[in-house]
Amino acid sequence: MNISSTHNATMAWRKADLDHHLHPFTDQRGLAETGGSRIITKAQGVWLIDSEGERILDGMAGLWCVNVGYGREDLARTAYEQMVELPYYNTFFKTATPPPIELSEKLASLTPAGLNHTFFANSGSEANDSIVRMIRRYWNLKGQPEKKTIISRTNAYHGSTAVSASLGGMKYMHEVDDLPLPGFEHIQQPYWYREGGDLSPEDFGLAAARALEERIEELGAHKVAAFIGEPIQGAGGVIVPPATYWPEIQRICRKHDVLLVADEVICGFGRTGHWFASDYFEIDADFMPVAKGLTSGYLPLSAAMVHDRVAEVLREQGGEFAHGFTYSGHPVSCAVGLKNIQIIEQEGLVEKVRDETGPYLQGRLAELNDHPIVGEVRGMGLVAGIQLTADKATRAAFEKEGEAGGLCRDACMKNNLVARPVGDSMVLSPPLIISKAEIDELVKRLSASLDDAAAALARK
Ligand SMILES: *Cc1c(COP(=O)(O)O)cnc(C)c1O
Repeated sequence: MNISSTHNATMAWRKADLDHHLHPFTDQRGLAETGGSRIITKAQGVWLIDSEGERILDGMAGLWCVNVGYGREDLARTAYEQMVELPYYNTFFKTATPPPIELSEKLASLTPAGLNHTFFANSGSEANDSIVRMIRRYWNLKGQPEKKTIISRTNAYHGSTAVSASLGGMKYMHEVDDLPLPGFEHIQQPYWYREGGDLSPEDFGLAAARALEERIEELGAHKVAAFIGEPIQGAGGVIVPPATYWPEIQRICRKHDVLLVADEVICGFGRTGHWFASDYFEIDADFMPVAKGLTSGYLPLSAAMVHDRVAEVLREQGGEFAHGFTYSGHPVSCAVGLKNIQIIEQEGLVEKVRDETGPYLQGRLAELNDHPIVGEVRGMGLVAGIQLTADKATRAAFEKEGEAGGLCRDACMKNNLVARPVGDSMVLSPPLIISKAEIDELVKRLSASLDDAAAALARK
């Protein structure tokens, strides 16, 4: 296609998109006012190509998910072969197909000790919904039907269905339709930069964890079923908790007989330089939802990992667990998930992120600490948050929350880098196959975008 015909195709797509396609997490009117969507048509490695032929560095791996990078023909071939062999059969009513069996066995060997049972679903949200149903059933079976309340954190993200958005602590999501549902409580997040005040990060980590104990005591432990947290909050702004946080959370959960859910939907499959962030933080969870990196986004798939000590109750004291999805354990998604894990293993991506590219990215980003509007760079492996601030000494927020982040995002777009703003943090989560040279390019573009954003702020 010549330039004008690609441009005409883009205009036609944009118009049809605006006319007929309702986008998630989008202000539809705002989208129309700003000219419509950027249309992505191809991708290879860490690079996206749009309908105008521009090459864009994907610093977010899609939505934190394309861990093995774009353009993997072996994943396409696996899907093709499974579709030819058996495109679909269900796992209800005493049947199964080989891929979900093999994948659940593989997951049992990779995930932290004791998490040996898998319930498959299609998205992180559905995995969390399924976990909520299992938690509630667990306490029913244990003869403690009053134990139903689930405690989460402000600014947590656990998905977008009514239940998983209730688990989440995003105020702007709750405001859409009067969430959370009854039975979901939220405590403070371990976000030292914004909420730590004069405390050291270590003391603040303990204080933030003890908010859980206070809430449990307020509600009565006999009413509290579980606590859920992302080991590192992703969509909340890549918030890495102080080292004191998780051990104290675990102590409190055990003491009050409260189940612990570690939401590894972003952290899993090498993102942090470990198979799971629970390995690093030594979290001994009762449930662990995974999704995103499980198939590197090539097909929808999620898994709710269940610990032996919980599965024993659910399985042995049983009766029917009347829950499941048409596509639970979909054979094509599971075959692709298995192949994706094989690629991660064969290419040593977890070790590469831990020893090489993770420290390299974090080191290069740390150079941005000198930038006038950067307050803090935080992260681990190939996930990072760059906190913007109006005042480096007092850690003050900008007058209009989100304005600096928005300006920086617009500048990144202009500079052909995908980086996402969360309030006034910029977050990054590139594919795990990113090279050091590509990291240099990413940091160069981000740094130029921070300059652009700072200049735009100064003009205001
Ligand atoms: C993305 C995400 C989810 C939801 O996953 P979906 O597949 O979008 O439903 C849940 N938990 C965390 C931590 C996530 O980042």
